[in-house]
Amino acid sequence: MLENNESSNQETPRLVDIKLINDPRGALGVIEGMADVGFNFKRFYFITKLSELSERGGHAHKTLRQCFICLRGGMTITLEARGETFSFRLDSYDKALIVPAGYWRELREFDDESLVAVLASDHYDEGEYIRDRREFELFTRPASPSSVPYLDLNRYIVNMRSELDVAIESSLDSGIFIGGDAIQRFEAEFSHYCSTVAAAGVANGFDALQLPLRAKGIGPGDEVIVPAHTFVATALAVAQVGATPVLVDVEPDTGLMDVASVENLITDRTRAIIPVHLYGCPVDMDPLIEIASRRGLFLLEDAAQAHGALYKGRKCGSLSDAAAFSFYPTKNLGALGDAGAVVSNDSALIGQVRMLGNYGAPRKYQHDQVGMNSRLDPLQARILSKKLKYLNEWNSRRQQYARQYFAGLSNIDGLQLPVTRDWAKPVWHVFSVKVLDSRRDQLQEALSRRAIGTNIHYPIPVHRQRCFADLKWDLDAYPNADRFSQQSLSLPLDALHTPDEIKLVIDTVRDFFNAL
Ligand SMILES: *Cc1c(COP(=O)(O)O)cnc(C)c1O
Repeated sequence: MLENNESSNQETPRLVDIKLINDPRGALGVIEGMADVGFNFKRFYFITKLSELSERGGHAHKTLRQCFICLRGGMTITLEARGETFSFRLDSYDKALIVPAGYWRELREFDDESLVAVLASDHYDEGEYIRDRREFELFTRPASPSSVPYLDLNRYIVNMRSELDVAIESSLDSGIFIGGDAIQRFEAEFSHYCSTVAAAGVANGFDALQLPLRAKGIGPGDEVIVPAHTFVATALAVAQVGATPVLVDVEPDTGLMDVASVENLITDRTRAIIPVHLYGCPVDMDPLIEIASRRGLFLLEDAAQAHGALYKGRKCGSLSDAAAFSFYPTKNLGALGDAGAVVSNDSALIGQVRMLGNYGAPRKYQHDQVGMNSRLDPLQARILSKKLKYLNEWNSRRQQYARQYFAGLSNIDGLQLPVTRDWAKPVWHVFSVKVLDSRRDQLQEALSRRAIGTNIHYPIPVHRQRCFADLKWDLDAYPNADRFSQQSLSLPLDALHTPDEIKLVIDTVRDFFNAL
């Protein structure tokens, strides 16, 4: 499985077929850039006048990708990286060999008269050649890390470059920049992923929260119950539609909405409850579902951190009347910009959300409601479709790293690891530990000195945000949320971290506590 330092979807050399169109006039061979080879060619060259004794190659490229086609004769190419060797005999013009960057190559055993064509992803640049074998070993050897970024989104770009290029290119080729099939396709894929009936793409996670509230007619005079420990968007979305957010404290161990306290807060103005699957850990939904159905309340999951998380075997997002997802770039499923979605088993509600997000128009220029502009754009939809295919793999990598942390950081006095219930299968959007005895900032500082990035989710709880000062909340009513804001520290945990990076974090945290 995902044992070594290689990212799971790293490209390896592969052969692709060259389409041959035969007719009485002769044969035409065709190979497409993006579609067949996975990159666009910027340079064409060929080698010929080769003899049986010729040897070429003896180098690698740091970034250049190539496609070899033997048009005449034959040759053997051996490719090697990280202890893996691939050998191909190219001797017909109906196969092309795709060589990703980072492979040492030797070309030999040429037939006389061989003619080998090469398509390259970029122009010539001596600086990206590796001609020295030792330099190559260093380049490809997984270096033991000396720093750990909290999150390095560039790794996703490097990893999926060709697929992202394809997504962007097909968007350009389509000429459609709002609406269209790409959105419908992603909506269908994502609602299927969430085990729901329908999805509506929207502009961001915030809108994914406010649009279902609007669709339900929730507004001024209404109350909506939200947790005091969450990203501010949850409460802001309630305020944005004109309703009043009513805060509930969180459980002292999990930091998730204290479901047992919700019913006490219900008044005759209460219209909805928004549980937040914070950090990618599911809230205990069954009691909430019972309360909501008994009291006739709208139940909306804030699943912005929980793409793929399971509650009692069921997908977060499918557990209530509707769910809001964010595809902000840092989320478990992230776009290359802002994006979001609402999913639901109620397709009429999804239709409402879609209409409200499109200027309240059921059809062009007919506006039935005071809507807004909140649409997912097709470029982001195409990118999200590409990334969705890897989401399960990325989530299981996150789960692997969470296990590594649980094993490596157990039994440290003054450090509390995240608490999860046995019915929960979290997707670890954030791995937030609690540091006791007012040492949180000290630990953060110590990690920072060793070039380890951390974060605090969130340093100011919702009830202490100045934007809500008018609501005159009792600041002492949410002690658990306060404690999380003072004690929690999010350690680096991303699908594209390496086990060695996680180990360095563990060792550095242990050093800190040992030195106390
Ligand atoms: C990210 C996030 C949101 C908001 O999503 P945006 O796409 O940034 O608007 C809402 N709620 C939670 C819990 C989030 O983490």
